[in-house]
Amino acid sequence: MRKEELINNLADVERRVQEACKRAGRDRSEVVLIAVSKTKPVEDLQVIYDAGIREFGENKVQELTGKIPEMADDISWHLIGHLQRNKVKYIVDKVKLIHSVDSYRLAEEINIQAKKHGVVVPILIEVNAANEATKFGVKLEEAKQLCEEISHLDAVHIEGLMTIAPNVVVSEENRKIFHKIKDLSVDIAKENIDNVDMRILSMGMTNDFEVAIEEGATHVRVGTAIFGERNYNI
Ligand SMILES: *Cc1c(COP(=O)(O)O)cnc(C)c1O
Repeated sequence: MRKEELINNLADVERRVQEACKRAGRDRSEVVLIAVSKTKPVEDLQVIYDAGIREFGENKVQELTGKIPEMADDISWHLIGHLQRNKVKYIVDKVKLIHSVDSYRLAEEINIQAKKHGVVVPILIEVNAANEATKFGVKLEEAKQLCEEISHLDAVHIEGLMTIAPNVVVSEENRKIFHKIKDLSVDIAKENIDNVDMRILSMGMTNDFEVAIEEGATHVRVGTAIFGERNYNI
């Protein structure tokens, strides 16, 4: 049965999160598990919600705004996918955190829309850690400067960094990438830039969330391991 399958998947992911925390000498409370529910029906989200999860991640604005009214209002929604400037207005007051800011122009638009809605929007800077041509995100060496520029916008607040590591077969291969991002966040934190915090590191997905936790992730974004494979053709 679908419900049982989802509950078992979630329990398995939770156990693996706990074990990774233990190996790293970290407390479980230091890691937020975000259930990435893109392409999945709200019935599936409801099962995971009923099992106790309150943090959900979506990568498309339209899907996100469609699901929000269908679900309980104590959910924290995370926008984790690439965000176009013309769509910022639809989500700016509805999400807990935007993970995917990789340009000043996007941050500026978030700032404008945030002011219109009377909110301050927490954001992460997306870093393209492995410099992959197919990925969004700023280069590692550009992240600090982007933080400085965005820090002057008073209706956005940088809370940390996000990265999508390469899709590798052996998760261990991404350890050095996660380590680099952790180092970068420590580096930026040392600058004590006004209006910039480095308390969040959003990294680790189904294939590599345990390694990410061992390397300091505070938020892992797990889809497939909870909801099963995605079918983009339906
Ligand atoms: C889809 C997605 C995830 C989850 O990926 P899985 O491999 O299914 O866990 C995490 N982060 C982002 C940005 C995504 O788009």
